[in-house]
Amino acid sequence: METLAIHGGAPVKTGPFGTGKRFGDEEAAQLLEALEQNTLFYHFGSKVKQFLADFNAMYGREYSVATSSGTAALHVALGAAGVSVGDEVITSPITDQGTLIGILYQNAIPVFADLEPHTYNLDPASVAARITPRTKAIIVVHLAGYPCDMDPIMEIAKKHGIKVIEDCAQAYLTRYKGRLTGTIGDYGCFSTNDFKHISTGDGGMVLINSGAREDYETAHAFADKNYRRLGTTVDRGTSYIAPNYRMTELQGAVGIAQLKKLPWICERRQRYGDRLNEGLQGIQGVIPPQVDPEHDCTYWFYMLRLDLDQLTCSRAEFCSALEAEGIPNRAGYIPQVCYMQPLFQNRQAYPGSHFPFDGSSVSYKPGLCPVAEEILVTAVQIPLNEFYSLEDIEDIIHAVAKVGACYAKSDE
Ligand SMILES: *Cc1c(COP(=O)(O)O)cnc(C)c1O
Repeated sequence: METLAIHGGAPVKTGPFGTGKRFGDEEAAQLLEALEQNTLFYHFGSKVKQFLADFNAMYGREYSVATSSGTAALHVALGAAGVSVGDEVITSPITDQGTLIGILYQNAIPVFADLEPHTYNLDPASVAARITPRTKAIIVVHLAGYPCDMDPIMEIAKKHGIKVIEDCAQAYLTRYKGRLTGTIGDYGCFSTNDFKHISTGDGGMVLINSGAREDYETAHAFADKNYRRLGTTVDRGTSYIAPNYRMTELQGAVGIAQLKKLPWICERRQRYGDRLNEGLQGIQGVIPPQVDPEHDCTYWFYMLRLDLDQLTCSRAEFCSALEAEGIPNRAGYIPQVCYMQPLFQNRQAYPGSHFPFDGSSVSYKPGLCPVAEEILVTAVQIPLNEFYSLEDIEDIIHAVAKVGACYAKSDE
């Protein structure tokens, strides 16, 4: 057996990981054009409009709305879906805070459903069990680019007459049974913050899947103070509040150039992630994510789980050993399931107030979503990006296999 680098052996990875430039002349040229328009307001310029037209073409949809962030995109979708005071919205306990913020700003109540153990996405049976007469919407999160099991979720939503919002911040060009995630629910929300597949610094998009003009106008207005700008005159007769989440022409300009690179980025990530999945099968104590061959996963990161009963080490020891082999990694994803945050434990979204939680029987007890809790204490996250080489990927496989073999428990 090879000696682990952490015990003085030679590390698997000696050379650097592949790197590259995300932004180049294409973005610079677009930015210059934006400035030459002499306006950076999305409604007067052409860049945000072009960006959305390109995005719509890529996703085969007629309407989408640009926003200032992915968090904003989700809030806009909730607003368009009519989510309001006291409504319940079912979502995942393993996600970015951005999934939850819009729910709380609408004074609605997040309800956490449990996850599938190896896709890390919502378990439809748990979603069904959390439906109440107050449930207004479901936000599915396609975590790390793995598609959530949409068919049963859509069926549940249809049965109860509730909306489905897809959080695709980590899932560009992911396909569920051949269909693009973001086009399956009522709304598909994306983020272009600096850490996602593509970046405009910050930004977001909402796909309007109903294709209904009225739905589009409502969502559009919700991102712009409820000003209705799409008619011949601006209608400021606002009947309820909406934030200002406008995207600027600068972001739209960078987005145009970034979108052109997106298919290549996703293709590379998919190839690398799928190769990791294949190469990491059959290693004792290591459980790769479950990616059904009928789906296309575009891996925002790679996350496996450890079966600690099969290993002689703790997760922390496994991670340190992998790090010593030259493979950056992180134990888990977020520190704890979302409902363990003080916000939910204290039922206090706004300082000095328990609204809208007071009077609600929604639970945030530890143990509420046991599978999700188990995922977070056994997961190992390995970053991956489109600039890596195939050799980098093979090194990751080799290193995980080496660490796994050294810590494999033998049956006495
Ligand atoms: C990044 C992210 C968001 C929020 O996007 P921002 O652009 O940072 O507001 C929401 N949900 C998920 C799953 C994310 O990864």
